[in-house]
Amino acid sequence: MIQPRFIGDEGAVVWPHTCICGSNSGRLTDTLKEPAGGRVYLCDRCVSALARLHGFVHGDAIDEARAEQQRLADRVAALEQQVQEAVARQTRVVSVDELIAASKAAPAAEPEGVAA
Ligand SMILES: [Zn+2]
Repeated sequence: MIQPRFIGDEGAVVWPHTCICGSNSGRLTDTLKEPAGGRVYLCDRCVSALARLHGFVHGDAIDEARAEQQRLADRVAALEQQVQEAVARQTRVVSVDELIAASKAAPAAEPEGVAA
C-alpha cells in the first residue's frame, strides 16, 4: 500500500520529476515509491483515470463539478463586487419616526423640511 501525498512547492524533486504518463503539469501526487529506481508520481488525469477504472468516481462528473465550482466562484466574486459598489453608493434612508425622534432630542438641529 502506498502513502501518497501531494507535491508541495518543492516540486517533483526526484527523477523522473514527472507523472508516469510523462506529464508534470497541474497537481502531482507523490507515491513515495521508487520500484525501478525512479519515483512514481501521478498527475490529476492519471489519478482520475485510475479512480474511474476502480469505480470510485466518474471523471466526467469531477470535470463538471470543477467547472461548476469555478462558475460559482466567479459568480460569488461578481456579487461581492456588486455589494461593495452598492455600499459605496449607499445613501442613508431615515424613517419619519427617526426624524421625529431626532427633532425631539435636539430641537436646534431639526432636519430641514420637517414640521414639528
Ligand atoms: Zn499522468
